[in-house]
Amino acid sequence: MATKKKQVARELLFGDLWEFDPAPETAPAGIADRYGLFIGGEFVAPKSKKWFDSISPRDEAKLSEIALAGQADVDAAYAAAAKAFPAWSKLPRAERGKYLYRLARLLQDRAREFAVAETLDGGKPIREARDFDVPMAAAHFFYHAGWADKLEYAAPGRDLRALGVVGQVIPWNFPLLMLAWKLAPALALGNTVVLKPAETTSITALKFAELIRVAGLPPGVVNIVTGAGETGAAVVRHKTAAKIAFTGSTGVGKWIQRELAGTGKRLTLELGGKGANIVFEDAAIDQAVEGIINGIFFNQGHVCCAGSRLLVQESIEAVVLRKLKLRMKSLRTGDPLDKNTDIGAINSKQQWERITELVDVGASEGAEIHQPACELPKKGFYFPPTLLSGVTQSHRVVKEEIFGPVLSILTFRTPDEAVEKANNTAYGLSAGVWTDKGSKYLAVASQIKAGVVWGNSFNKFDPTSPFGGFKESGFGREGGRQGLLEYGELD
Ligand code: NAP
Ligand code: MG
Repeated sequence: MATKKKQVARELLFGDLWEFDPAPETAPAGIADRYGLFIGGEFVAPKSKKWFDSISPRDEAKLSEIALAGQADVDAAYAAAAKAFPAWSKLPRAERGKYLYRLARLLQDRAREFAVAETLDGGKPIREARDFDVPMAAAHFFYHAGWADKLEYAAPGRDLRALGVVGQVIPWNFPLLMLAWKLAPALALGNTVVLKPAETTSITALKFAELIRVAGLPPGVVNIVTGAGETGAAVVRHKTAAKIAFTGSTGVGKWIQRELAGTGKRLTLELGGKGANIVFEDAAIDQAVEGIINGIFFNQGHVCCAGSRLLVQESIEAVVLRKLKLRMKSLRTGDPLDKNTDIGAINSKQQWERITELVDVGASEGAEIHQPACELPKKGFYFPPTLLSGVTQSHRVVKEEIFGPVLSILTFRTPDEAVEKANNTAYGLSAGVWTDKGSKYLAVASQIKAGVVWGNSFNKFDPTSPFGGFKESGFGREGGRQGLLEYGELD
């Protein structure tokens, strides 16, 4: 009898016995059939006369047709931004703040619609778009609205001046949030902007352009040019730009740095990562397991600061591995529009292929692959949560950023070894430390070369907190006072 009861309890826990009913989000996403470029406060047809399709990775359905900006279009965007700069930068600071508050509130008003659009376009679970991306994007505008008329406190005794026109290129993993990270500080300081979203996720940026119009921002203060890498390159190279802010891959970041050398343009680069999540034997194990899960499976692992290298103290390896496998069984992978989904769609076919290739490489190099049994939707791009054990630091899956729901597990014996292994990477963006001892956290965290080191938590963000990397993860900070200063000239 007891065994039977245990069996039932286990099945309940594992979800073998029952399933959640579907809980689809049904609110309209308000996506137009076609989007032109947003230049000088208007949506305009591209001079290039080229358009591309934007599809949903959820089911490969076409969502919209998007303008592809060529050189002449990027020129027009920079011209509009340059024209808008004198008046915008001279506007009383409190007035600039009001525009930012308005944008934040408008985004809150239409939060549900933006969340659905973000999920459809990028594939992330609606729960994350609704509870993280959209509210955090609004929070960044609120935070920087607050700075706009208090700039004298950002650099006491100095005057902080706008730089001019800023070119910004953002990636596809947090499309709206990255837009907010870039636009809010630039505008608060009085810069004008030419922004290029990623090719696969332009929709929420274009919907945001609608909010810019509703907020009544002067024409040309924000210009949005859509397209792929070539459009991004035209934005980066443009002679009008006083600064380039880029978030994306390390490869493209290096190219941009070479391209800008000697031009005098300011540059900030937010690039890739391979974050270590370190779990000591004295940690609260169940909490740590939740943190490991969140650290790697949040947003399908499309997170530059993901905790993709798990470092577990050898004495607790077996128990952590067992608990992790158990927890992974209860993760629901599938339709991102379902409110119960934990892991949605991989952003694009290309990214799906990269993840698949790297996991295959892991297998051929001898890694043991653990994936819970789960039925994936037939259409769209899906990858199950994956754990790789039996790997060492020389394995490609441990060295390279996979940017997917794939965790590598390694062990260590002493705090010194944990630090050495955590730092044994070309990247330096993030890390996590799980321990019951505050002194151990401080000692370890201070030795890790990473822009952010979370303590007994992971993937926590706040607009007041600067974020950025060391080494091949880039330079410059976004968020907080430090992030604000990157957009100004100190007099
Ligand atoms: P990516 O290929 O570097 O693309 C990033 C952006 O740059 C996209 O808008 C892209 O356009 C554009 N781009 C591509 N080639 C360019 C060029 N030659 N000149 C100028 N722009 C160019 O990176 P991704 O694969 O989209 O994004 C994933 C990477 O971003 C990961 O490595 C991740 O770690 C990193 N990331 C870092 C952070 C951070 O804060 N540190 C945050 C998020 C992501 P298209 O997409 O339209 O081709
Ligand atoms: Mg898309």
